[in-house]
This record gives sequence, C-alpha cells and structure tokens, in this order.
Amino acid sequence: MSGRIRWLVAGAGFTGAVVAERIARTRGERVLIVDRRDHLAGNAFDFTDEAGNIIHKYGPHIFHTGSDRIWDYLSQFTGWRPYVHRTMVAIGDHLVTLPFNLDSLHQIFPGRDADMISAALVAEHGFGRRVTIGKLLDSSTPTIIEFAHFLRDNVYLNYVRKQWDLDPEELSPSVLARLPVSISHDDRYFQSRHQAMPVEGYAALFERMLAHPKIEVALRTEFSDVRADHPTARVVYTGPIDAYFDHRYGELPYRSVRFDLSFAARKNIQPVGTISYPGAAGYTRITDLSHITGQINGSVLVKEFPEAYARGRNEPFYPVPTPQSAQMLRPYVEAARKLRGKVWFAGRLGDYAYYNMDQACGRAMALVDKEPRWRSMTLRR
Ligand code: FAD
Repeated sequence: MSGRIRWLVAGAGFTGAVVAERIARTRGERVLIVDRRDHLAGNAFDFTDEAGNIIHKYGPHIFHTGSDRIWDYLSQFTGWRPYVHRTMVAIGDHLVTLPFNLDSLHQIFPGRDADMISAALVAEHGFGRRVTIGKLLDSSTPTIIEFAHFLRDNVYLNYVRKQWDLDPEELSPSVLARLPVSISHDDRYFQSRHQAMPVEGYAALFERMLAHPKIEVALRTEFSDVRADHPTARVVYTGPIDAYFDHRYGELPYRSVRFDLSFAARKNIQPVGTISYPGAAGYTRITDLSHITGQINGSVLVKEFPEAYARGRNEPFYPVPTPQSAQMLRPYVEAARKLRGKVWFAGRLGDYAYYNMDQACGRAMALVDKEPRWRSMTLRR
C-alpha cells in the first residue's frame, strides 16, 4: 500500500470500523485502524468454538434498528437471519412476558384485578402504547399507582440495583425511561422495523467491512504505541475518553459484567431468548444463544453477573448514567473540543454514552458525513 496514513482510528468496534470504512470509501484516504484486542468487532465479537457452539464473547448482541439507512449500509457486508427477540421475567413462580404487557398482567393478577388494571391503563394511555414505569408511578389513578409499585418492587428495583449497584433514585431518569410497560399483546422486546442477526456472525461482517485497499488493520495494538509513528495522521478515538487524557480529571465510572457460559445438548432450552431474574442472587439474566444465533446443535447459556469495574482487571462495558458522572465528563468533553481538527472522540467509550450497535453505527456515519472540518479539509486539497 502506498502513500502515508492520513487517519488513525483507535478501536475496531462498530464505531471505529464504520468510520474507517466511510473514510476509505468516500474520501479515498489511507486509514490505519488499531485495536488492543486480538479480534475485530469490539464488544459485538462472536466466534464458533471447537464443538461448533456460536459464542458472543462479550454477551448476547441482538441487532435491531429503525433506520433504513443503517440497515442498507450494513446489508452491503452481510446477509441477515430474521430474528425477533423475545424475553421473559421470573416473578415468584411465574415466568411472564417482558416488557410487561397485558398478557403478563393476566398471568400475575388472576381474574378481575387484571381486567381492572388493564382497563385503567387503556383509559389513561390508550391501547397499543408503551409507557415507562416512571410515568405510571406519576399517575393519579390509584389502580395504576398500585400496579406501578408492584412492578417497581418485583421487576425493576432489584434488577436495577444489581445492574448498577445503585438505587434507582441515584440514576439519571433516562434509565427508568428505558423500562417500558406495553399496553398491548405485543411480546416483542424491540419494536424496531429491522430486527435480524448477521448470517455468518458479526466478526464476518467486520472482515468484509474493513476489506478495502485503503484500510490497514493492526490487532493487538495499543493506540499510544503507534501514535508517534504517524504524527500527521488525524485521529478518531473510540476508546475511553478519560484514558486518552490519562484520567487527569479523575476516572469516569463504568460497570462491568462477568459472563458465565454453560452448554446444553439441545437448542431452545429456554422458551425465549432471554429470561430476567430480578430476585436471583448476583445474576440478572440468562440468555439461550441458540434462539439468537439459530445454532441447531445444542445451545450456549449465558448468565450475566454485573460487577464493579476495575481498570486492567475487567472490561468497561457500561458508562454509569448518573448526574455525578455527567458532571465528571464535562472537563473531558471540553478537553476533547480543544483537540478537534486533530482528534475526534466517538462511540460508547469515546462519547461515554450507552449506544446500541445501530446507534454506534449511526454516530460513526454522521461523523464522517457531517463533520464540517473534514469537509473543509477535502476542499483545501
Ligand atoms: P466497542 O465495541 O467497545 O469497541 C471499542 C474498541 O476499542 C474495543 O474493541 C477496544 O478494545 C478498543 N480500544 C479501546 N481503547 C483502545 C486503545 N487505547 N487502543 C486500541 N484499542 C482500543 N447493542 C445492541 O444493539 N444490541 C444488543 O443486544 C447489545 N447487547 C449488549 C450487551 C452487552 C453486555 C454490552 C456491554 C453491550 C451491548 N450492546 C448491544 C451495545 C454494543 O456492544 C455497542 O453498541 C457497541 O459495541 C459499540 O461499539 P463501539 O465501537 O462504540 O465500542
């Protein structure tokens, strides 16, 4: 490959890989993309083990998007296996649909109670709506308030405590806003127009995305180890923003997860892809990967144990959504703003924001399309 590297991308997850592909394809400039891990695809990485089990190394990843643009873009690099994610929650002896819907209601509250709650929900919000638990708690209808408290105490409270090691009041309101109740019989976990899994997995999708003559990939490579070799290259950094600045304003909090895998002799051991266990000690949910990957010989069960993040010991999976962490992020955002023109931060760790895969993809596409300084660089040449 000739010519100098014009772009150095740190991180080969969805954000970094899409940025690299877009720069190479739309600007025709050379890109070096590095990742400290020994594989592409970031947290979406998957592989098949010696026994033929398909494993999502960093927890189950289900693709869904409402954006035709993102769907069409990714479809250049993969075919799709249709998959609609369904999940349940264990409440006492009951296993009911999650998000909690009108059928879950009838399974938990027998007879007239369910009819009363269901009538009150439909009257207040309308049939077919998805309403957050936070909104139900704010209702002035006693039946709804009582129901909302039941859900809060039996479904969400323990789950949120285990997931974040915080009480719901300590989290940003956006977290409760992600926990909907469905006033319908819709049992889909996601309502996005496109829901599917890459036929040959995420790793294969990334291989194709980055197979471009202007893209060079270096795995097992730390960004800081190669930066000095490419002093004039512009940087897109998708690692943790606080790490880039050597944590000079303090360490941003992250939450990690330990995944315990077990193997089953037959597929579809669980009735649905994922079952949440708010009442269980230590773990939050179990996923039966055979639903998701379509694997037919046996299954892989993934049990998730949220845990404290410690640098160097485990992975910083989730930015912690509290007002305090938003405050801590500010000086980093300001420091990043001063570097624009040379370095851009993006992605789940670079923006310190929880993104689904399609959102990470959309963020990367928007960066390449809309960054005004990149446009002026093109005009100058
Ligand atoms: P990442 O995938 O984290 O990639 C960042 C990469 O940068 C990593 O590979 C890292 O090794 C590398 N890196 C960091 N610092 C450096 C450095 N200094 N030098 C070199 N390399 C570096 N989304 C969905 O849409 N559906 C799901 O079902 C879903 N399930 C999830 C389950 C779990 C447990 C988790 C944690 C996330 C899930 N997500 C899901 C979110 C999804 O993983 C993210 O949207 C996606 O990974 C974001 O991509 P990214 O490129 O921003 O970050």
